[in-house]
Order: sequence, then structure tokens, then C-alpha cells
Amino acid sequence: MIYTDHHVHTYYSPDSKADIKEYIRIAKEKNQDFVMFTDHMDFGGTDPEFQEGIDYKKYFKQMKEIEEEMEFKIRIGVEIGYEKNCRSQIEDFLSRYPFDYVIASIHYGDGFDFYLGDFFHGKTQYESYLRYFEIQQDMVENFVNYDVLGHLDFIVRYGPFDDKNYDFETFKPIIDAIMLKAINEGKGIEINTSGLREPNDTFYPKNQVIERYKNLGGRILTIGSDSHFNQQYGSGILKAVDFLKTIGVNEISTFSQRKEDRIKL
Ligand SMILES: [Zn+2]
Ligand SMILES: [Zn+2]
Repeated sequence: MIYTDHHVHTYYSPDSKADIKEYIRIAKEKNQDFVMFTDHMDFGGTDPEFQEGIDYKKYFKQMKEIEEEMEFKIRIGVEIGYEKNCRSQIEDFLSRYPFDYVIASIHYGDGFDFYLGDFFHGKTQYESYLRYFEIQQDMVENFVNYDVLGHLDFIVRYGPFDDKNYDFETFKPIIDAIMLKAINEGKGIEINTSGLREPNDTFYPKNQVIERYKNLGGRILTIGSDSHFNQQYGSGILKAVDFLKTIGVNEISTFSQRKEDRIKL
């Protein structure tokens, strides 16, 4: 089973300098059939670096050129940084370009950035995590133009807390509500392996949440490294596959032209 990394940033993302052709060289070495790029397109964020956005006309044109030059299939996904006040802007953006795959992520909320830390000011750990899940719940209830939820419990990456982990049971009602809504809409979740490269040493979302998604009837799972450097490409994917097997999952999803397909593990 060869599974292509489904969450990859290139130098088009403001927080990455990773080279497109180098990713393709690595994918060729791994005998993959295609690469899937998912650069950042954040809406309504607070970090000025992320406000310029990408010139997607240029992006699609360049990807086509590289595809021909390297004789290797490029699928073009996008990681949307969702903000509820920008919903119509996001819909408009997605209607204009023929993406293969859309990850919906929450990178900030209530006008605060997780990465910059200000979201956590004046909140306990419980309050900030709950608020994060509420923001995500609001997204799934009002927005369906996505394929998978990105790094579902990503808030644990950023809090200023000694032990960033959380008790699944405490947040189970709201996590269940988010995932049930996604499942009913025919949406998936991604297993984001970036947490394996961090002190948290976890998938996002963590194992219990992935297993719960499956037990609630969810069948659409993708795996992505959230690579921001060429050398991170594909990292943790085999570990995620191994984990999926232990919980009885034997198929994994991929997307092309927004259509889901399954690969046997
Ligand atoms: Zn993200
Ligand atoms: Zn990402």
C-alpha cells in the first residue's frame, strides 16, 4: 500500500519555504502516483503574514507547468483557515478554482490567533479548549464545502499549559456532535501526523478521537504530515496506517476533483 501525503505545504504558504519539485522527487522515490499539495488559504485571520493569500491563477498555471516538466501528477488541494464571518468569501473562493481536495481547519477564533497565543488569555485550559471546539462546531453546522476536517483537536498544540493533553471524556459531547455532523454530511477527518514531531507526540486528533469517529460510523479518513519542509514529507504516515489497522480500519481515503476514493490498507 502506497499512500501519498495528503497535507503538504509549499513555498506558496507564508510559513513554508519547501520546494515543489523536491517534493515530487521524493514522491517519485517512494513510488507514489501523485503528490497532493494543500497550501494555506486563511480567511479572516489576525496574523498579517497570512493575509495576502495566494494568486491561484498563477498557482494552477505553475503546477501545470511543473507537472509537465517533471512528468508527474500533481493534485491541488487547499487548507482553508476558516472564519465564520468570511463564509461567503470562502464559498466564492472555492467556486472559482478546480481544487481536488479541501481541508477545513480552525487556526483562530473570536478574533484571536492560537499560534500567537492571545486566544488563551484570561481562559482556563478547559475554557479555551471548549471554546475551540465550539468554534469548530459552528463551522460544521454552517459550512459544508469541505472534504475533511483538518487536525480536529489542534488547539492542544498551542496552549501555554504544562500538560496540553485533554481528557477525551470531558469533551466527548461536543467532539461527538462535531463528528456526527461531519459524518451526516458525508465528510471525513484527517489524521494529521505533525504532532508526532512535537513534544505532544500525538496524532491530531488523538487516537481516541479517531477511534470514536470510526465507531460513530465515520468512514472517510485521510492522512497528512502537514509538511512545511521537504524533509517532513510523508513523516508519520506509516505509523498512522499501523494505528488504523489496530482499530480495525482497513481502507483509507483519497480525493481527486473533490471525489472520494478508497484505498485498501
Ligand atoms: Zn492547519
Ligand atoms: Zn497545514
